[in-house]
Amino acid sequence: MLSATHMIGGAAAAAAVLIFNPDIQAVPTLITAVGVGVVGGLIPDIDHPKSRISKALRPVNALVSFLFSHRGVFHTPALYFLLYALWVWKCPASKYTAWGNCLFAGILSHILLDCLNPGGIPLFFPLSSRRIHFAKIKTGGRCESVIRVLLGGAAGILVVLMFLQGTGINPGIIISRFSA
Ligand SMILES: [Zn+2]
Repeated sequence: MLSATHMIGGAAAAAAVLIFNPDIQAVPTLITAVGVGVVGGLIPDIDHPKSRISKALRPVNALVSFLFSHRGVFHTPALYFLLYALWVWKCPASKYTAWGNCLFAGILSHILLDCLNPGGIPLFFPLSSRRIHFAKIKTGGRCESVIRVLLGGAAGILVVLMFLQGTGINPGIIISRFSA
């Protein structure tokens, strides 16, 4: 998948996390937290020399590319579950938990999106290094564009709902009025 799709996927995933986190309500904080999700959506492709995050972090990419292959260990859910468990365990204070949740939600969105690509990912590593995919959506193809638009729409709706929550309006009441 293209970096743009992963960025939008990361934003949607972070927004979905923030909807359930009423502790973060200030608009600048919400925007930053969605930005953290966007970064999370890019992180696994640090193993690809032409990805957006690799170009931004060239020395890190040089080391990672030297040590690991693309869609190898950096595309394994096991690595991120381990890191997430470490984050939850060692998180300096509960008020920071949401930041980690946004980052890992972004990363998870990347893993799921790459599962829709014929290249797949080593979903069950270290039990198996076989790459698994659930669909054959071509990178940069029309189907990916449709997914990107849908994710963008979902992210937009979630961000609006977050802001409504921040203003004290209960989005649940609005949704129930539309569905009634
Ligand atoms: Zn990837």
